[in-house]
Amino acid sequence: MSSNDRDATYAAIRAAMLASYAGTLASTHMSPLEALECIAAAVGSIYREVADSHLDPEGCTCGWRPNEVMDIVALEQAIAANAAREDEMVYFDLRSITPVGHG
Ligand SMILES: [Zn+2]
Repeated sequence: MSSNDRDATYAAIRAAMLASYAGTLASTHMSPLEALECIAAAVGSIYREVADSHLDPEGCTCGWRPNEVMDIVALEQAIAANAAREDEMVYFDLRSITPVGHG
């Protein structure tokens, strides 16, 4: 995939999600963060569905194999890297964060 393809795909997905976010805010009483958490939850759920279809022997044959721990860290880092302010970019060490329910 060329970086032009990647930029165009990113712009299209971002526009679709922004429209979904705006629609959610307009049609619910959710706070901005609650609406964004819904979008993030949907991304996680889509990952699960895609990973399952690649673990299923009868599923997708493209050859990609999910690596659950590393894949989920990559998704979390993609959110963090784009959410942090550029002038004080903070790289979160996700290993230092205690998962909820395991404290
Ligand atoms: Zn596949």
